[in-house]
Amino acid sequence: MVKAVVGANWGDEGKGKITDMLAKEADIIVRFQGGANAGHTIVNNYGKFALHTLPSGVFYDHTTSIIGNGVALNIPVLFNEIKSITDRNVPMPKILVSDRAQMVMPYHILFDQYEEERLGGKSFGSTKSGIAPFYSDKYAKIGFQVSELFDEELLKEKVVRVAETKNVILEHLYHKPLIVPEELLETLHEYRDMVAPYVCDVSLFLSNALKEGKSVLLEGQLGTLKDPDHGIYPMVTSSSTLAAYGAIGAGIPPYEISQVITVCKAYSSAVGAGAFVSEIFGEEADELRRRGGDGGEFGATTGRPRRMGWFDCVASKYGCRLQGTTDVAFTVLDVLGYLDEIPVCVGYEIDGEVTTDFPVTCKLEKAKPVLEKLPGWKGEDIRGIKNFEELPENCRRYVEFVEEQIGYPITMVSNGPGRDDIIYRESPLKK
Ligand code: GDP
Repeated sequence: MVKAVVGANWGDEGKGKITDMLAKEADIIVRFQGGANAGHTIVNNYGKFALHTLPSGVFYDHTTSIIGNGVALNIPVLFNEIKSITDRNVPMPKILVSDRAQMVMPYHILFDQYEEERLGGKSFGSTKSGIAPFYSDKYAKIGFQVSELFDEELLKEKVVRVAETKNVILEHLYHKPLIVPEELLETLHEYRDMVAPYVCDVSLFLSNALKEGKSVLLEGQLGTLKDPDHGIYPMVTSSSTLAAYGAIGAGIPPYEISQVITVCKAYSSAVGAGAFVSEIFGEEADELRRRGGDGGEFGATTGRPRRMGWFDCVASKYGCRLQGTTDVAFTVLDVLGYLDEIPVCVGYEIDGEVTTDFPVTCKLEKAKPVLEKLPGWKGEDIRGIKNFEELPENCRRYVEFVEEQIGYPITMVSNGPGRDDIIYRESPLKK
């Protein structure tokens, strides 16, 4: 059986924690899209880790961790990350890399930086990990697939051809040093030697695993609102963040995905530019940021302070719908315990009309939040609670209110960063 763990919003919903938790019962965990531009923070018995490329199942010795074909694979980053966990006594994880995954090249990272520099104040707020140039090249059919590392003739010819076009832009648009094909070839030889032991025909491996009844987790990066088609284009990421893409980015049939666990955080946060309707500012935002997540809402990859906001029912309802949600995991609820009243965004006012349907980007920019305030559960620490009925009444009401608004069953409530901080819940919406 295949389960997908994906985000409903802008990312940073706590997918890493939920994947790490569910990985206990899984055989295989697959990253199917994105690259090292976002991170998951995981707290477990080995300590606290920020993962960018490795799937969140690497901390168990019974799991196989897979980098699927849909990922933007940065080979040096992958190997540094493996080292960073094994240096802290995590046993060497079993890793497989799809032979059809494409690689982030050193020039992708440079192009990302140069373009943000060129755009200045109009930049996308890219993490400069090379993701947009990488996916552009993939679809322009000048990307490098892992399999190609093992075909020397092809590689030699291709580095020259690609350097030719890239160098025109480097010279005339960015006025930066040119790519030297021989040096690039050398780098690719290093990549080949690093990745060789892990390369695998992943779709075949997964097909056999599914026939044997193995359980597979697909781990998404970012969330619905960063999807290039269904998100806040153009302030999106460059690969699909939807569970449906899990089938493509891992190489499995779509009908195999029988459970879609969409992670929603009990308040909102976002990184990068783009409309964010329920955003809050000043001291109100600073306090939520300071108290948020596990040690504050700062980017796991960049350390950037995240933009903060109240829970957005409009965005989350849409986010859950596009994911094809079967279960919602509602996270970081413990953090809201300091508030007397908790504002929730229940609608968007656009040109004088209120809607609960998430609009296209140009309308989104005009949207103002319609807020409703719910009573808080101040003074009652909800960490450590294991049964939904034992939560303070106002806390249960908050969950029930959100569930009603978004229309998808909240079957898991996370009340702390640890693996065991989870409350399973019977939802009236669960079919
Ligand atoms: P991801 O990219 O979706 O995995 O999210 P991040 O890892 O960037 O952000 C989630 C943050 O919240 C991490 O620091 C987690 O350790 C933390 N976290 C996850 N669930 C909970 C929770 O229920 N309560 C608290 N306090 N922190 C949580």
